[in-house]
Amino acid sequence: MLIDSHAHLTSSDLYEEVDAILLKAKGAGVEKILNIATDPESLKRGLLLSHKYPWVFNAASTTPHDVEKEGALYFDEIAKHVGQLKAVGETGLDYYYEHSPKKLQQEYLVKYLELAKANHLPVVIHCRDAFKDFFSILDETGHSGGVLHCFTGTIDEAKQVIDRGFYLSLSGIATFKKSFELHEVAKYVPLDRLLIETDAPYLAPQPYRGRTNEPAFLKATAEILADFRGISFQELAQATAKNAETLFNFER
Ligand SMILES: [Zn+2]
Repeated sequence: MLIDSHAHLTSSDLYEEVDAILLKAKGAGVEKILNIATDPESLKRGLLLSHKYPWVFNAASTTPHDVEKEGALYFDEIAKHVGQLKAVGETGLDYYYEHSPKKLQQEYLVKYLELAKANHLPVVIHCRDAFKDFFSILDETGHSGGVLHCFTGTIDEAKQVIDRGFYLSLSGIATFKKSFELHEVAKYVPLDRLLIETDAPYLAPQPYRGRTNEPAFLKATAEILADFRGISFQELAQATAKNAETLFNFER
């Protein structure tokens, strides 16, 4: 069994075809999916979706990109529905694009970390070119555990993520031929700390690169990562699924 620990099923790119996409995912062995809702409309869709498909679960928060535009509005909406979520996120810091001011990204990261902690939920973290600030905020606030999603950092950053008790999730980017350092990260992360994800509709893995990504493509990522590690597909699939179950408490 495979678990897609991060997909935007309720984004406009996937939602129109979501029934067919979920059917195809099941066919490819994906048995659970964490949908990442990034605005009030996608959260509403996500809650309806998990009612219809009990194997689809939800996480929600404003992304670091959008905190300037809609942070205040959406935070209250999330807090209202937090009891129906399996995680808070994706929140975090993105200094690469810096679509919202750094200070504001930091403020919302702290707010979401506190919301997660108060509700005993894990956090889903997006962090790009901002590990130094992320680690110091994490160390100041404390946290309830979580995952660094779509990890694209260095081995040293991976080590620091793991040392803080976090899981590390690899996406299709780690399958790209030129992602040399990520290939090393894929070998380095202890198997009991590794998650896998599509981040659909973005970042389709080899050999689907360039297409709209969907959870069914997780199988390709799992096969390639298993290859890097020199273990069987089955072993990688089972271990990462078990980790997702443990972190997100899907059975609760
Ligand atoms: Zn995402």
